[in-house]
Amino acid sequence: MPKLSDETDLAYKRRVIDIKSESFCAAKWYNATIWLGSGQTTSCHHPLPHQVSIEQVIANPKALHNTPQKKEQRAQMQRGERPSGCEYCWKIEDMGVDAISDRVYKTVIYEDKDLDEAFNTRPEQDVNLQTLEIAFDRTCQFACSYCNPAFSSTWVKDIRRNGGYTNLVSDGRNHFTHEHGSSQLYTITDVNPYIEAFFKWWETDLHKTLKELRITGGEPLMSGYTWRLIEWFKDHRGQSKTRLAINSNLGFEKDKLERLLDATQGIELDLYTSNESIGQHAIYIRDGLDWDQWTSNVTYLLDSGKLRGLHVMCTINALCLISLPEFLWSIVELKKKYGKDSINFSLNILRFPSFQSPLVLPLEFRQQAVEELVRFHAANAHNLHEFEVNQVERLFNYLRDVDSPHSGAMENSILQHDFKNFYQQYDQRRGKDFKYTFPQLAEWYDTL
Ligand code: SF4
Repeated sequence: MPKLSDETDLAYKRRVIDIKSESFCAAKWYNATIWLGSGQTTSCHHPLPHQVSIEQVIANPKALHNTPQKKEQRAQMQRGERPSGCEYCWKIEDMGVDAISDRVYKTVIYEDKDLDEAFNTRPEQDVNLQTLEIAFDRTCQFACSYCNPAFSSTWVKDIRRNGGYTNLVSDGRNHFTHEHGSSQLYTITDVNPYIEAFFKWWETDLHKTLKELRITGGEPLMSGYTWRLIEWFKDHRGQSKTRLAINSNLGFEKDKLERLLDATQGIELDLYTSNESIGQHAIYIRDGLDWDQWTSNVTYLLDSGKLRGLHVMCTINALCLISLPEFLWSIVELKKKYGKDSINFSLNILRFPSFQSPLVLPLEFRQQAVEELVRFHAANAHNLHEFEVNQVERLFNYLRDVDSPHSGAMENSILQHDFKNFYQQYDQRRGKDFKYTFPQLAEWYDTL
């Protein structure tokens, strides 16, 4: 039991983490995201990814996670020093001694004995992962407006066909100006040494220690490697206790999902899918989506009763606010029909690209969304899980009280300028019509 039932996060931090060091975070030892298409890894989503050496993974597949950088950072944490890449956490902790940063949440999920072991491991030693997110490649049939070519091959095609988006002043990370070739170092027919190393590690060792494996993309169900892994589970039933989770946009005919459910029988499978608005709004934001297909696939998966959980990840961007409340009501209806645990949602507030943040909208639209979310919250708190209630509260407080998507974001007039600039180009390239799809925003859009 990692955390005592009546223990606060702060009490846990003092009891388990602070006695080790002032900067200990278990994610450096037990958690990783690994992008096998680019050969990059990071411990959690906050530090920037770094490159894994091909020579090192060929010699030792565990080097996919146990890189010299992570080993150095583990040593720093053992000495109580702060690795600079973990800036996100240090900023929060510098707000006050009792401030709880993500390193507490990234640590609390592991057993106390494993934390002791991590802390006492010699820094040069390899450690076994417990939670892992991997992406095999960026192949994806969608090109959502808030995604970019680093994560979608359809986005790459847009840039290849039409060139980069132009005149976006606030997009300092250059999401939409080039193909992001470094995100995909190998073609589909090349031998990718990172993928080879992953399977070698998985088959010999990793399947015995890993508690959770989440496959992301691109669209994982379009990758032959995802199916190779699923086949492994099918052929080795009972030999691994790893829980499997897959992110999918559900943009498929039923037979693909049938194949998935059939192949994963007897395996604990969580499916994560994305959406945050209704009908034409969803089709506009998530370019490639067939709304009727998505809703019917959600119902199909719930009817099957075969998933451990179905999770809807909502990316809260400017364009979803109008129909987000209706979308959340529809999830509550599914909870009533299939059970509270059968389907969950999370509300992830978009910060980058900042011109797509919900904060670019004029106050009156934000206020309208707040009122509807407050109504939704009041009517449904008993139908939701505590974390869902908290996320709805966090969102309406955010829409009401926050002015800027992130520190260093440009002023709103520049973001609004980029907003129009982007969607004009998006409409042209994708055959869409902003004002027709969002008539409520048309008058404001014309003034930008
Ligand atoms: S200290 Fe914070 S930023 Fe660093 S790995 Fe842990 S949770 Fe992530």
